[in-house]
Formats: sequence, structure tokens, C-alpha cells
Amino acid sequence: MSIFNFSAGPAVLPHEVLQQAREELLDWHGTGMSVMEMSHRGKEFMGIAAQAEADLRELMGIPKNYKVLFLQGGAHLQFSMIPLNLLRGKLSADYVNTGEWSKKAMAEAKKFCFVNEVASNADKKATYAPDFKHWKLDKDAAYVHYTTNETIGGVEFNWVPRTGTVPLVADMSSNILSRPYDVSRFGLIYAGAQKNIGPAGLTLVIVRDDLVGHADPRLPTMMDYKIHADNDSMYNTPPTYGMYMAGLVFQWLKRNGGVAKMEQVNIAKAKLLYDAIDASNGFYHCPVNTADRSRMNVPFTLKDANLDGDFLKQADANGLLQLKGHRSVGGMRASIYNAMPKAGVQALVDFMNDFARRNG
Ligand SMILES: *Cc1c(COP(=O)(O)O)cnc(C)c1O
Repeated sequence: MSIFNFSAGPAVLPHEVLQQAREELLDWHGTGMSVMEMSHRGKEFMGIAAQAEADLRELMGIPKNYKVLFLQGGAHLQFSMIPLNLLRGKLSADYVNTGEWSKKAMAEAKKFCFVNEVASNADKKATYAPDFKHWKLDKDAAYVHYTTNETIGGVEFNWVPRTGTVPLVADMSSNILSRPYDVSRFGLIYAGAQKNIGPAGLTLVIVRDDLVGHADPRLPTMMDYKIHADNDSMYNTPPTYGMYMAGLVFQWLKRNGGVAKMEQVNIAKAKLLYDAIDASNGFYHCPVNTADRSRMNVPFTLKDANLDGDFLKQADANGLLQLKGHRSVGGMRASIYNAMPKAGVQALVDFMNDFARRNG
């Protein structure tokens, strides 16, 4: 029986990547060392890091005037590093509230500045992407922050807001590399690695040059983007194994047609699952507005919540793992990141149809 892991994060990695990591685990390219054992300043690891950055730049088309930083502390640390580095003497920042993750980002920013909630979907239980027409942007804001994909609520923006000269900051933790983005539209992009990049412990930050170097001198050194930018993410020991694994994932993406191809596959995978939900005559229900449904995280409920336990138990027995929804939403959530093969989504849909037939 095949096993398919629908965890929201840490999440499934490409099988080929895990195999390659296993093959290279004890002896990386004839060095007699594991990547885990290498000095981050040695030529072997410096090569691994440079290749990972070059591949990411190619995959995302990152312009030369952007720094790529390999950091630690998760997206959570970025919730504070962003205001601490980007306020640049300004007093407020604009935030779009689309669910759990944007709320967490806002709560942290409130410790450092006035947070202007420019749009919210709280009126409909965080089930849609607020129309740009109604955003109350402030031209004096230090930046505009939004969450491109709400991992818990399953709301994804399928458009990028235009914020003029105010830098756009995006939490892309759960949909980076799943679709093409024009990086030049953003001031800063960040993502914890454990959804769509690699293992937990690595955080990616892509930041435009001119936004680096404005932190208060009292800011802890490790929280200053400039320190990491000036030292090619090697000011301190970076998360070396995570960077190596991310590098293998980037190579896998390149071998498989890059981000544009990934998007086509992700569209097809998501359609398969949403179509099954919508064709179930109400047995399954996805609360998210159709146009804003995430291609990465698909939340759905069962008509009768008393069947949730059976659904999860039988799914597990069929090799369909980690489908329990987030505690704040309930029901189920299937995370179908880049590394989830279409066969996994098909197996889930087959199981769901069968379960509905037996319990409908
Ligand atoms: C998972 C997630 C986070 C939190 O990431 P950590 O690495 O645990 O800090 C933040 N934002 C989004 C959109 C996420 O999916």
C-alpha cells in the first residue's frame, strides 16, 4: 500500500530527494563526510549553499537587487524582524487580516508600531480574499503585509496587490514555489521551509537591497537583516542540513519543469479534490469562496461531524495520513504541496467517494 502524507507542515518531501539524501548521508560526493558534519565555512558546504541560492534565484527569477537569506527562527521570528527592520522611522504598517497567520503577524507587529488593518475577512469567518478595491491603504505606512496563502483557513490570493511605493511584504510560508511570482513586485518575501521547501529549521527571506540596513542600532545583532546579508547568511552557523535539503528540492524542481510546470500540476491536483468535494451532494463541504480556494491546503468538513473519527481512522488504514483539520477550523484538511504526487490526491478522492457512498 502506498502511503500519502497530507500534513500541513512539516510536510511531505519529494521521494527522490529523500532517496538522494539517504544515498549521500554518510559520504557526500566522495568527501567521506556527511553534510551534517561539514564546516559551514569549508569549500564543500560553501558550494552547496551557493548552488542552492543560484537555483532558487533561477526558479523564482529573483532580481540581482534582492538578497536571499537562509535564516532560522521560523516565520514566527519574521513576524518581529519585519517591523524591527522595515519601519525605518515610520510609526505604522498596513496589515491585511485573512486568518490565523495574518493575525499572528499583526499581534507581533503591534509590539513595535501602530498596525493598520487595511482589509479583513473576519466578517465571513476568514473564508475569502478581501477585494483590493476596499483595502484602506495608508500611503505613509512603512510597508503592507499580507499572507499569500492561509495554511489553516485555506484562502489563497490568486492576485498580487499593487501598493505603489509602499513595500509589499508577503508571508509565503505555505505556497512559495507552488506558482510563479514576480519577485520585483515585493519588498520582502519570507517562508518557513517546512511546508514547500525542505525540513523545519530553515527560514527563507528574500529582501530588496534598499530595505536592508535601517534597523535601530540597539536591535539584537541576529535580528538585523544587514548582518545576514553582509555575511551571506554565514554570520553564525546557518541551518546547514536544511539548506542542503532545500538545495536538493530546488534541483528536483528544476528537473521537473520549474515553478510554471509545478503550477499546472498544482492546479490539476487541487481541481481533482475540490471537484470531488463539490460533487458530493453536500456530504463534504469546503467553506472557502470558490475563487479564493487554496491550491495547497484544502479544508473540508463532513456533513455529519460524528463521522469525523471514522473518516480519519479509515483514511489512516488506507495510507492517507494526517488529514485532521486544524483545531480552530475542525473537520479535515488535506495539504497538497508540490511534493504531493497527483496519485496521492487521486487516492484521497477515491477514498472520499467510497466513504461517502458507504455513509451517505
Ligand atoms: C506554518 C506557517 C507559519 C509559522 O511557521 P513557523 O516556521 O512555525 O514559525 C507562518 N505563516 C504561515 C502562512 C504558515 O503556514
